[in-house]
Formats: sequence, structure tokens, C-alpha cells
Amino acid sequence: MVVFAVVLADSRADARRAAEAAEGNLTTALARDLDRNVELLDLSIQAARDAWSDPRIRALDPELRQLVVFDHSATASFIDAILVVDRTGAVVADSHSATPPTREFREADFFKAQASRDVGLYIGRPMHVPGKPDWHVAFSRRITADDGSFGGVAVGFLNLGYLTETYQHLPLGPGGVLLLLNADGTLLVREPELRGAIGRSLKGNPVFDRMIGPDTGAFEGVSSLDGQSRLFAFRRVGILPLIQAVAATTDAVYAGWRIKATVLGAVMAALCSGILALLFGLKGELQHRVAAERALDVLASTDPLTGLANRRRFFERAAARCDAAARDGVPLSVLMIDADHFKSFNDLYGHVAGDRVLVALARAIEGEMRVGVDVAARYGGEEFIVLLPGLGRREAFAVAEAIRGAVARMAEPHERATAGIVTVSTGLASAEAGTPPDLRILVEAADAELYRSKRDGRNRSSGGERVAARYPRPEPQPA
Ligand code: GH3
Ligand code: MG
Ligand code: MG
Repeated sequence: MVVFAVVLADSRADARRAAEAAEGNLTTALARDLDRNVELLDLSIQAARDAWSDPRIRALDPELRQLVVFDHSATASFIDAILVVDRTGAVVADSHSATPPTREFREADFFKAQASRDVGLYIGRPMHVPGKPDWHVAFSRRITADDGSFGGVAVGFLNLGYLTETYQHLPLGPGGVLLLLNADGTLLVREPELRGAIGRSLKGNPVFDRMIGPDTGAFEGVSSLDGQSRLFAFRRVGILPLIQAVAATTDAVYAGWRIKATVLGAVMAALCSGILALLFGLKGELQHRVAAERALDVLASTDPLTGLANRRRFFERAAARCDAAARDGVPLSVLMIDADHFKSFNDLYGHVAGDRVLVALARAIEGEMRVGVDVAARYGGEEFIVLLPGLGRREAFAVAEAIRGAVARMAEPHERATAGIVTVSTGLASAEAGTPPDLRILVEAADAELYRSKRDGRNRSSGGERVAARYPRPEPQPA
């Protein structure tokens, strides 16, 4: 998921970089074009100003004078007219006509600016020229009279409608805009056109403020004119106080990326859920297997007739108990229990009855066990084995007698037994406290004791007292 997130973030940054580059290239081309056009216009204005400054040319008759003054005037379609305005604001020469109609620009911002002092090439606020529907921007230069005083203004009008028309064919994409701004914040062109936007000041607007200062740049911002989030790229037009900007909506910039992210996300989600499903399946399968293995283990370690542990299971559990007893220094005892005259019981009452008695014997033995401590198992045939951790000879003998008593209380009739009922004989072996128990020796000793019980007449418990002799004697400790 982390790799996926990093890849997505990276491809989003790529989408932005590509859009920035495309917008940057467009603004550079447009700014360069505009810069050249303005330079052309300025050359014509300067030529008109220089000619008008010459008294000999001013003295010529109007038709000839028009030819001379506007000799170098560019006739490009974006230039509307070049005029000479005298010190009162009245038009005295017009590149289009030898006899210009009476017009005056006393109140125009460019006239006021140039009248106060020489401000070089002045770019005025967007304005309407009489008789023309389009917005125009006046580019003006001051004419200095022979005595050095203000002698009027040479002015050329750049038709913004022409620019707008050019910009209409640019591939801006859905929601994309193109802006031309004066560095003072005045909006000169917005394509697509927005009612009432031309001439508005964007000074103090966060988007505009980011375009002030650097020559070029790109940033994401929310357009104050329509509230759209866009990626803006801007460039200063040459050394002019003009800023050319292009902006695509962020929706358009990231549209391709979004599709990619959605498809990749879906694939990723499918992959992840697949893996999860697989994991859950595997987990279920493993749990199943563990449960089956456990059941099998129980089956393999349980005696099917009596439900007691079998011999294998007994030795597993007994080994752990012996280790614990050795570690804790406590005694441990083993009982070997065998049904008396069982062959003849089978012969008399049948094997089914014999089986039933074996189950009853198992229950009688279990009844004397401490749950979770002692271990009872079917050793084989009609023999049982019991491990009594923590019990020495005397206590183990008591347990053996308790089992014998419980069997006697069953009062299962057995005609050929001495007592007339089913009885058991028990052999017992103990490792006293401090003697680490050895299971093999204990079982052998208990078995020997069992035979002693049988020899001594059955239905009894014996053993314990002679077992210690089978262990190596501890060295006498100095007092
Ligand atoms: P003793 O008192 O000396 O132990 O005599 P016994 O007859 O019990 O000893 P023996 O070893 O001669 O015979 C054991 C008999 O236990 C043989 C068999 O018929 C019987 N037996 C062993 N396993 C089973 C069993 O699973 N079910 C039944 N019904 N009888 C079994
Ligand atoms: Mg036997
Ligand atoms: Mg027997």
C-alpha cells in the first residue's frame, strides 16, 4: 500500500510537471509575440514623436505632413491608429487621416501621466476609442516642445479585441483561461471573456500577488473571478509592465492521473482483498488441520475401550512429571494394577462382560486420581499403571488400597475368585524426596511388586519399602 501511495503521488507530480511545462511554453510564446508587437508599435510612436518635434515638419501642409509623420507607422492589424495630441489634449495628427476629426484626450490617463512628466513608454488603462467596440490600450510617449516644456503626446492604440481573437484559437482545454495583466493589477484581457472583467483591478488578489516580482513561475490557486481551482503559469512580457498568464483547471490537469489512480486503486483493492481472502482461507484450512491433528493425536493416545491414556501417552506424560519431581525434589510413586483371575472371568462370563468390567475398573482407578496431577493409563490387557507425583511410599500405598477398596465395592461377582468378586492386585514403587525418579526402574520395581502381590494371594497391595535399595545409595554426608 505504501509503494502504491508513493507511485500515485509521484505520477500526480508528473502530471503537474507536464501541465506546467505546457503552460510555460504557451506563455513564453505569447509573451514573446506580444513583446515584438509592442516593440513595433513603440517604434512607430517614437517615429511620430520625433517627426512632430521637428518644426519644419510641423509647418508642412497637412497631407504631406501626415505622410512624413506616420511614414514609419506600422499598419499591423492590432494597431488601431497612431495619433499626435497637442498640449491641450486635442488630436492634431492621425495616421489614418490628413484631416482628423475633432477629438480630445485631456481626461485620458495617458495624457495626464505624460503632461505631468516624461514617464517614457506609458501603458494606459483599458479604454474605448470613439467609434470602436473593442477595448484598447494606449501606448504613449511625451513630446517635448522646443523650449523643453510639455509639447503633447504621441499615442498608439493596441486593439485588445485583436489579441482576444488570437487567443480564442489556443488550446486552453475545458475551463482553461488566458490572462493579460498590467503589473499594476489591471486586467487587460481574459479569454474566455468574462462580463465586466476587463479594466478591473486585481491588486491585493492572492492569485495576482503571486505573479508580482518573479519573471516567470507556476502555482496552484483559486481564481477570484469564478472560484475555480487552477494551475497558473505566468511570464513577464519582456521588460514591459505586462504579465501574460495561462491557467488550466486542476480538474483538467489531474484528469488523466485520476483515471489512472482509479484503475490502479481498483486493481490494488482487488489484489489486496484477494490476498486477504486467501489468507483467511489458509487460516481456516490451518485451523482445520490443527484441530484434525489434535483429534488424531487424542485418538492415537487414548485407549478406545476405557478412554484412559494408552501406554505411549503414559510414558510421554510421566517423563515430564518425573523431570518436575526431580527438579522440585519431591517424591514420586508408580502403581501397577492387574485384575485377578481375569482369564477365568472371561471364560465364565464372556468377553463382552470382561470388557464392561475393564471399563468399570478404569472408572474406579480414575475416581482415586487427583485431576491434572496423577496419570492413569491402560498398560495392556487387564493391566493398568498409575503415576503419583509428590506421593511417597506411604501415601501411594494408601491410594493403592483406596483403588482396591473401590474395586471391591463394585462387587462384580466372580465365581472362581477367592473373594467371589472381581478384585485387583497392585505393586507399588516409590522414589522418595531428594531421589531423582527413574521411570524405567520404578516400573520394573512396581511390576516385581505386583508379582509379589499375586504370589502372596492376590487382592492386595504391596511394595515400596525395598525400592530405595535399587537406587544408588546417597553418600553419607559429614555431620
Ligand atoms: P492373574 O490373576 O494371575 O492375573 O490371572 P489372569 O487370568 O488375570 O492372568 P492372565 O495373564 O493369565 O490372563 C489375562 C487375561 O485377561 C487374558 C485375557 O482373556 C484377558 N484380557 C486381556 N485383555 C482383555 C480385553 O481387552 N478384554 C477382555 N474381555 N479380556 C481381556
Ligand atoms: Mg495380567
Ligand atoms: Mg490378571
